[in-house]
Amino acid sequence: MMEQDRLAANLEQVRRRIAHAAERAGRDPAAVKIVAVTKGVPRATVQLAYNLGLRAFGENRVQEALQKFAVDPLPAEAELHLIGYLQTNKVRHAVKLFAMIQSVDRIPLIQELERRAERQGRRIPVLVQVNVARETQKHGCDPLQAAEIVRAVLEAPHLELRGLMTIAPLSSCETEIRRVFAALRTLRDELQDRFSYPLPELSMGMTNDFELAVEEGATMVRIGRALFGA
Ligand SMILES: *Cc1c(COP(=O)(O)O)cnc(C)c1O
Repeated sequence: MMEQDRLAANLEQVRRRIAHAAERAGRDPAAVKIVAVTKGVPRATVQLAYNLGLRAFGENRVQEALQKFAVDPLPAEAELHLIGYLQTNKVRHAVKLFAMIQSVDRIPLIQELERRAERQGRRIPVLVQVNVARETQKHGCDPLQAAEIVRAVLEAPHLELRGLMTIAPLSSCETEIRRVFAALRTLRDELQDRFSYPLPELSMGMTNDFELAVEEGATMVRIGRALFGA
């Protein structure tokens, strides 16, 4: 099969699975955005995905995204999301390249993002990443710190807080994964109330667990392998 045909079939399958999961939860499938995760995927394949109608793309490393898109930018309708750990010394590039930064998890990063966004005269949409399961090897703030991080983002005039992001534990049972997604949603609800500020986005769910995430309220699923293969 041609690469484009295989990609089209994968996308069709992912869309169908999202639709079924949304239906089970009584949700509108149109309220779930696919963020196609293109780490390790060549620029030409990203273009095929764009041609098939995908508009949101996720990269987890600033350096790789720069190499792929700085000289050969995506069309203006496409949006690039940073979904991986952001080093403070990469913020300058990140603020230029990305439409949204999903991995905001600490105060010094917020300060540097604010400084660079102001300097570039833009207000950048962000998500606060929460390490819901408190895994030691994962980035993201502790759930108990989330309010402090959210407050800092809300006080930064050049950052636009849109919601929360999490990564579920890798190898564990369905009940445990579902509990993590439900906990992120509950935390979002609490933070919305506490700050009287709308947090519409929940970025959760990847190839292994996106249906559970959709059932638990995801508005963005970050899908790599189910679209592009391993
Ligand atoms: C790689 C990655 C994904 C996509 O993972 P798949 O299992 O390939 O769908 C999603 N989110 C983050 C943060 C990632 O690094």
